[in-house]
Amino acid sequence: MKITLIRPNIGRLGDVPYFDEGRMEPLQLGLLAAMCPADWEVRLVDDRCEHIPFDEPTDLVAITVEVFTARRAYEISEQYRTRGVRVVLGGFHPTLIPEEAALYADAIVIGDAEPVWSQVLADAKACNLQSRYDGYTGKVQNGILPRRDLYKGKGYLPITLIQFSRGCRYACEFCAISAYFQQRYTSRPVDEVVREIEAQDRQLVFFVDDNVVADPAMSKQLFRRLIPLRIRWVSQGSMDMVWDSELMDLMCESGCLGNVIGFESITQESLTGMNKAPNLKGFDRYEKAIQILKQYGLQTWAAFTLGCDTDTRQSLYDTLDFAVHHKFTFAAFNVLMPYYGTPLYSKLAAQGRLLFDGRWWLHSGYRFNHAAFKPAQMSPEELTEMAFELRSRWNSASSILSRFFDLKTNMRTPYRMAIYWMYNPLFRKETLKKQGMFLGMEPV
Ligand code: SF4
Repeated sequence: MKITLIRPNIGRLGDVPYFDEGRMEPLQLGLLAAMCPADWEVRLVDDRCEHIPFDEPTDLVAITVEVFTARRAYEISEQYRTRGVRVVLGGFHPTLIPEEAALYADAIVIGDAEPVWSQVLADAKACNLQSRYDGYTGKVQNGILPRRDLYKGKGYLPITLIQFSRGCRYACEFCAISAYFQQRYTSRPVDEVVREIEAQDRQLVFFVDDNVVADPAMSKQLFRRLIPLRIRWVSQGSMDMVWDSELMDLMCESGCLGNVIGFESITQESLTGMNKAPNLKGFDRYEKAIQILKQYGLQTWAAFTLGCDTDTRQSLYDTLDFAVHHKFTFAAFNVLMPYYGTPLYSKLAAQGRLLFDGRWWLHSGYRFNHAAFKPAQMSPEELTEMAFELRSRWNSASSILSRFFDLKTNMRTPYRMAIYWMYNPLFRKETLKKQGMFLGMEPV
């Protein structure tokens, strides 16, 4: 038996497929590959950098689907199904909107694949594939180590992706992670994570956790065990990490270079409206929190969300000034997106404010990074333009140069300087390139 595992691209720039030069290893597909029995031949295909071999014989196709790749994933699925090949769809998007994904698949996997994957393969082999498998689990990876050999030669960034935990206990209004995990959080045994790090050969690791500090006690256990490994690592974490000095000490001792942190907004009103609880403790426009992050020398990737009901043109410009003033190493200025299944989506739907018939991810008129709802204090077009302006100004050559001069973070060591100069030009290029991209590959 043969299975083809596919990571779809987002879409195209005009007639040309988008080529993501900052692509990372598809960890979830490496895990699925590792869970395939020995009598299954596995082929991993990354649509971001290689052609899909539609006419190559295969018994089963499995596609991981996120909201931004849904349109492309459905196109790929249709191509295979017209050739008589069975297709399984799984991941965030099919879990949040299974009734839609089921229209484009022979089977869908809801939630995590680990508990049901062997059953999916057994049923496929017996020509008895079920239409739906419910895979929620309390065990992340369940002792499985991904097949990293399948990543070779695909030009991924030289950083190893590893997952310690899944989920987050907060309930931010816009967050698809919170909707997917229903505020559940699960972590792997620390021994297993250490074994996985030791089994790979890179020194730079990205813990792809939704919130690496969601359970500080578990995080501390992990960080203690990382110290002797002498790796360097980055991850994603909530702002409240800064108030736990033991956690911060261990994080930095264990080799943390910095985290993606969701700042979202610099106003208390917007944060309250989003239910962004980890940012609200003793809110002082983050002055103390940023001071602590800098004391530890962390190179922060600050993520901002633009278009909340209290946002005005002026508040968005203030957000950019704030980010430049604090010389964050990286930053993202994201338009607030209504992800299906989130409280935000339900609220905007009830208020009649969703655009593109409420299905922007499939709509032929939607373009990447455009607003998909009616903001309260500006038009959707204004929000789209402002977000692009902020991204352009943040990524300008003068901004990149001026932000570099921070002795506590970006200039702290030669290694950190190298990180700064290696990734800022890359992110600038990718950010500006993607604006207005078509979702999917097929012309509308
Ligand atoms: S803290 Fe981050 S991961 Fe957790 S619910 Fe909020 S946005 Fe989502």
